Amino acid sequence: MKALVKSHPVPEEVEWTDWPEPVCGDNDILIKVEAAGICGTDMSVFDWAERTVQEHNVRLPIVMGHEFSGLVTQVGKNVKKDINVGDLVTANIILYCGICRFCREGQTNVCDNRPTLGIQVPGVFAEMVAVRAENVYKVENGVPPSVAALSEPLCVAIHATERVMPKPGDVVAVVGSGSIGLLMVLVLKEMGVETIFLTGIAGDENRLALGRELGAVTINVSEQEPLEMILASTGGHGCDIAFETAGHPKAVLQALSLVRKQGKVGLIGMPHDLTSISTTALCIRENEMIGIRAYTPATWQKCVKLLPKLEKQLSRLITHSLPMSEAKQGFALMKKREAIKVILVPK
Ligand SMILES: [Zn+2]
Ligand SMILES: [Zn+2]
Repeated sequence: MKALVKSHPVPEEVEWTDWPEPVCGDNDILIKVEAAGICGTDMSVFDWAERTVQEHNVRLPIVMGHEFSGLVTQVGKNVKKDINVGDLVTANIILYCGICRFCREGQTNVCDNRPTLGIQVPGVFAEMVAVRAENVYKVENGVPPSVAALSEPLCVAIHATERVMPKPGDVVAVVGSGSIGLLMVLVLKEMGVETIFLTGIAGDENRLALGRELGAVTINVSEQEPLEMILASTGGHGCDIAFETAGHPKAVLQALSLVRKQGKVGLIGMPHDLTSISTTALCIRENEMIGIRAYTPATWQKCVKLLPKLEKQLSRLITHSLPMSEAKQGFALMKKREAIKVILVPK
């Protein structure tokens, strides 16, 4: 089969090339990939951003990609799950061990031994992928494959709320208007949070416009001082919660600056560089900073239930669709921030 493979630790090198077709083990499900999304992690692998690829422990050569949906072509003989040939499915791409302390408590996202598709094991920018059945989730009839391919980032946004636990009455800021920022707005709205500020920078105008459509108050920080606006609408206190989704040290500091005393900052983005923070200020204001990583099986259950409900809004995030053989163009569109979500189709 063909797959998008990164073989060397150099920036911007990938190849749509021959790769051995995966074998469907007795506990696996073999899936013909229908749609796959490019995300920030893929960008880091593509660009070979040293710190990030080291922290993720990327193993070369690797078939890239981890956001996808596809049609089941074979079901392993030991599989008991209600999944059949022809079903549209998506999958949790973290192959958690199931036996470590964290897995036993359901926190499989921070498993001690968690090989991940597209990072250490062959990913989904390929014609076919085999995934153990435990990790595969059926998508409800009628949800298009491109929308189903957004399950993984949608899980990230849902898990952020599991970690930080916003309440409907909270004022929440989402810093960064990329696909995770916009998915945060969607999920927060769905939870009943009424006041959501979404920030972006020059060049994010289209993303901010979509953020407004999804129900956020948007702030272009290249033109407007977000703190002033937020203080004015919170009686001078600041937000209850801010989520950092941009993955940039400046955005981390911005998120921290926007929350009130005892406010919480959820860290979703993974900056390539270190952030310098005054821990004294954290003490004085009793702020909490909460790391957020991936999702658990419980998150996936919620996600597949939400997909049909949010289908229309989710489809608005997809700005480009390209064949996998032209993935480089997709990476370029992401880098220029022209695209919100690029969907790749195997061909
Ligand atoms: Zn992703
Ligand atoms: Zn584990």
